[in-house]
Amino acid sequence: MLLRVAVNTPLRRCFDYLAPADHRGSAPLPGTRISVPFGHRREVAILLETPARTDAPPAKLRRAHAILDATPIIPADMLSLLRWASEYYRHPIGEVLAAALPAALRHGASPAGGRTGWRLTAPGRAADPDTIAARAPLQARMLTALGRCDPTGLAGEELRGLGASVRPALRALQAKGLIEACSLPSSLPEVIRSAEPGPELTAAQREAVAAIRADFGSFMAFLLFGVTGSGKTEVYLELAREALARGLQALVLVPEIGLTPQLVRRFERRLATPLALMHSGLGDRERLESWRAARSGQARVVLGTRSAVFAPLPEAGLIVVDEEHDTSYKQQDGFKYSARDLAVLRARRERIPIVLGSATPSLETLHNVYRGRYRRLDLPERAGCANQPRIEIVDLRHHAVQEGISTPLVLRIQGHLERGGQVLLYLNRRGFAPTLFCSECGWIANCLRCDAHLTLHRSSHQLRCHHCGAARPPETACPACGCEVHPVGEGTQRIEDALARLFPAAPALRIDRDTTQRRGQIEAKLEAARRGEARILVGTQMLTKGHDFPEVSLVGILNADQGLFGTDFRSSERLAQTILQVAGRAGRAERPGEVLVQTLYPEHPLLRKLVTEGYEPFARAALEERRATSWPPFSHLALLRAEAPTRQAPLDFLERARGLAPGAANGIALLGPAPAPMERRAGRFRAQLLIQAAARASLQRLLSDWVGQVALLPEARRVRWSIDVDPVELF
Ligand SMILES: [Zn+2]
Ligand SMILES: [Zn+2]
Repeated sequence: MLLRVAVNTPLRRCFDYLAPADHRGSAPLPGTRISVPFGHRREVAILLETPARTDAPPAKLRRAHAILDATPIIPADMLSLLRWASEYYRHPIGEVLAAALPAALRHGASPAGGRTGWRLTAPGRAADPDTIAARAPLQARMLTALGRCDPTGLAGEELRGLGASVRPALRALQAKGLIEACSLPSSLPEVIRSAEPGPELTAAQREAVAAIRADFGSFMAFLLFGVTGSGKTEVYLELAREALARGLQALVLVPEIGLTPQLVRRFERRLATPLALMHSGLGDRERLESWRAARSGQARVVLGTRSAVFAPLPEAGLIVVDEEHDTSYKQQDGFKYSARDLAVLRARRERIPIVLGSATPSLETLHNVYRGRYRRLDLPERAGCANQPRIEIVDLRHHAVQEGISTPLVLRIQGHLERGGQVLLYLNRRGFAPTLFCSECGWIANCLRCDAHLTLHRSSHQLRCHHCGAARPPETACPACGCEVHPVGEGTQRIEDALARLFPAAPALRIDRDTTQRRGQIEAKLEAARRGEARILVGTQMLTKGHDFPEVSLVGILNADQGLFGTDFRSSERLAQTILQVAGRAGRAERPGEVLVQTLYPEHPLLRKLVTEGYEPFARAALEERRATSWPPFSHLALLRAEAPTRQAPLDFLERARGLAPGAANGIALLGPAPAPMERRAGRFRAQLLIQAAARASLQRLLSDWVGQVALLPEARRVRWSIDVDPVELF
């Protein structure tokens, strides 16, 4: 018997083995783990099929060591989804399967709960412990204890406390047929017994729930388009409750930054059911436990980030992708999949509804709504507060600016503080200042290994590169001309300093990656912010997602311009999403909020559209631009990236790769090769070749042969290269 398996290697192929020598009986099913010799190592591989014949020369055909599972560890539908993803994203199948499984399983751990124990049999349940209490007191105590934990059972070590010679007593009970060995469920945290009631749903929430509920049991993709604060999470909770009531499991995906302890507690309290958490902060052991709980059906709800899209769910009934526009759903290295897109495909294949929630949906998703492929449900109003915050533009060309804060914003902050409001200032740049600059000769503090400025961090007295992590003490004088150097531009640290001077009576709190590195720090800071101890909050992206600050009445966006003229065709979409996410922090409770956006380009048409008309008119205009310029969703992209220690090697490789691609037939254009927007990073030169196709199918046709040929190029060995299908970042 032949076994064709996937091994966790970057090689783009499968491997054939002979079945283990001691194997008898029928062929194992695809998705089963097989222990195989691989080079000089022993590897845990995944069985893909049992082919009738192989091309491998008989002399080279090796025998597998062992078949590790009685039933497939990856069920057939998930295996088929993963094989599809491997094809679509052109990533080696072995690495794709490895990405979908907890590491412990790839090292041979048991897929069922590792703990074995004992439980009562039917005669055991009927037996009266008192009748044997006189002759065999220990056995009687065991029956009583197991009766209390029926039908789950107890671990051997838990029974050990009952007496001295536990083992013979267990054997005696087993011989009498009163108890049997069993595998114990994995240890999930204690569950709250009764669900906490939620707030009464608004009419729009009720309608959304009813519409989605009507499609339980069949595939439908919904866009839940709800402004920030409109209560999307209440809709998710109600739907999850519905799934539970029908005996189904629910999968809820949230962005990395949104999986907060508050969200977990909210789900636990409201659903009173075992949750399995899956996120990057888990250790191997916890990850395995969550996977087991989901697979055994013990966990009815899986709450997780990107990779949770691969969670095993034997009774899947519903998938939710919250903040569907968030770019963290796209894996940026290794297996570059989109968890949102795979979630939609999974829902379609498992014939269950999927809900994509957002206040600022991606243009791709809106396009799918406009084409009638997704169904749209609106949550127009804010729960508890009908007023959307008012957004105003501050023209930085016409107002004095001190350390990044314009006079109108200073006055507005003052006003809000006097009325007892809380103020949030957003700046997507940590550190003190973007860099050091010599105004005499134009010298700038650059990273030696990247095409980037070093950021000045004054509290740690360092210049740091945010791209490669390099750090050095800041120059006191210009190394070129000896003149004094000055920090230019603003980072969150500098804003914090400026606020301390401008508003000495109002305590400020800075929340960015630099102030929240230790475990628990971000929680403590957010809690202080919510309690209102800090009157002014300064922060980056970290401050804006998924956190509620009911007292915030004024939001200031200090520099909107970084997004307006970005190198990426998605820059304006990102900027609009960020502005509205940040604006959504204002006025969430009873008080109406105000938002000030500082910019040097107040006339920018998309920015005006966003501020005066709102997100959807902006999105329609932005989609028109994309149509006119043939960017996604009106075309389909793949990006071939390469990097090497020399400038020429990546360009040579990409030039050869381009030469292998068939000409511009089928509406396919090859753009490049060109150096990446940031050509040098961490000492390596980077370049890219963009493939743009009018139709997804023609792009896939091109990639199917081409990527394999590219991998065989001699130039490929001189660079590090990767292919990114549907890239979200073009650098
Ligand atoms: Zn100088
Ligand atoms: Zn660097």
